[in-house]
Amino acid sequence: MKVGAHVSIAGGVEKAVERQKQLGGSCGQIFAGSPQGWKVSGFDDAESREFEEERREANQSPYAIHSTYLINLATPKNDLLEKSLNCLQSELEAASTLGIEYVVFHPGAHTGAGRETGVDNVIEAVGNLDIPEGVMLLFENTAGKGTTVGKEFSALNRMVDETDANRVGVCLDTCHMYAAGYDITEDFEAVMNGIETELGADNIQLLHLNDSKHPLGSEKDEHQHIGEGEVGEQGFRNLLDSKLGGVPKVLETPTDGKGYADNIEKVQELANP
Ligand SMILES: [Zn+2]
Ligand SMILES: [Zn+2]
Repeated sequence: MKVGAHVSIAGGVEKAVERQKQLGGSCGQIFAGSPQGWKVSGFDDAESREFEEERREANQSPYAIHSTYLINLATPKNDLLEKSLNCLQSELEAASTLGIEYVVFHPGAHTGAGRETGVDNVIEAVGNLDIPEGVMLLFENTAGKGTTVGKEFSALNRMVDETDANRVGVCLDTCHMYAAGYDITEDFEAVMNGIETELGADNIQLLHLNDSKHPLGSEKDEHQHIGEGEVGEQGFRNLLDSKLGGVPKVLETPTDGKGYADNIEKVQELANP
């Protein structure tokens, strides 16, 4: 089973691998710049090679770059869209340079244009990206707060299906799913059925494993330690036991109290009771 954590690249991207190793992770995720800014780090050939070598030795794969939170491809505003596309393109290129398999991003918010129009905007925007060979762009499901798009399986399916871009897929976040009203704890079969019929399990390339601080359908995105939130241990057991159990998993649990190492161990326990 591939499970790891979101790790820092402070001091050099190759340092991420050692950090991951310390946590007991076998796959992972990084930011390629500040998650609250537009600037994407440039990576030279030497550090890219080192990162790739370290990863190979530690047998850590796959990796994802999580895009900055400022990205908004659902927006009706042209200047924000252009900034978002430039930034996402740089992140895709960074992934290609580093040999990273995935770039994950939150589709964005329609800010009044309407949900369907928002999804249309995302579909059109992604068609303008040049997704390098060897890299896949993943739409992440959202909790659905405010005017954000991408909380429903059907919306994610439209994004994957209707864009002109090749090499796209979905990253499902368990906290976001639960906050969006998908009850993976008490009603897992229905959720799985929804995934199969509205999205297609094959489109799911990556899972973000996070518990939720807020109740089912709250649309609030706040992560909790695995098994200690509203999803609880049963929700994760259900998922790990399903056909999605083999999908690589990245944790984005809180950094207070318990650390990533404990959460990774918890997932391994829940997968092998
Ligand atoms: Zn996530
Ligand atoms: Zn989240």
